[in-house]
Amino acid sequence: MSTKRSNGQNRQSPIDISTSKAIQSPEKCSPLLIRFNHGDCVEVTVNEEGCWKVSARLHSTSVIRGSHLTGTYRLLQFHAHWGGSEHTIDGKRFDGEIHFVYWNTRYFAPDEACKKSDGLAVLGVLIEKGAPNQEFGVLLKYIEESNKTRKAVKIPITFDPMRLVPKSGLTRYFTYLGGLTTPPFSECVVWTVMQTPITFSEAQLKTLSTMTDENWRECQRLHARKVYSTKAV
Ligand SMILES: [Zn+2]
Repeated sequence: MSTKRSNGQNRQSPIDISTSKAIQSPEKCSPLLIRFNHGDCVEVTVNEEGCWKVSARLHSTSVIRGSHLTGTYRLLQFHAHWGGSEHTIDGKRFDGEIHFVYWNTRYFAPDEACKKSDGLAVLGVLIEKGAPNQEFGVLLKYIEESNKTRKAVKIPITFDPMRLVPKSGLTRYFTYLGGLTTPPFSECVVWTVMQTPITFSEAQLKTLSTMTDENWRECQRLHARKVYSTKAV
């Protein structure tokens, strides 16, 4: 767990989401449009800290759209946090959380987008211990290989990230304005956190914890921010 706290800013992430305080707004929270194109997720890398990341190709056409997002956001990478989720719901911490990171195509490049208040969109999918996720099982082999070699490992074109996204999450989610949960904690993220978790098996979670015990940041203060939701939870 990172002990780094908010550096005096007012839209840090993650946060605890209170379902009773979330404002239901069908206008703000239209059904999400998520498109993953085969072959856009090219390789996985594991860093020094034992955290993995799947990178999308530069001109990926995998996108996310929704009425809370200003324009089209293009997939950049996805990764996960485990040993606990980053966002909590009514104080409940889940077993992990996947983050799909997208950048706003109205900006020139991802680096440029990170300097804007609506530069990135991150889709958070909570993970709960349960049945194994088959698609993650496929990915896990490549993660383990990269963990051993510390090199980027290509993943097959058939890998389908949509199988890591709960279908009901497209119409059941929370959104708020926040930032990156890892350094430099830039406040450039429009967050979308799906209400329904997916499941990973105990063995799958255990494999991740052998790489690093946990890698989540503690919840940050909401300050004056509002959390919007699709409908009653
Ligand atoms: Zn993350």
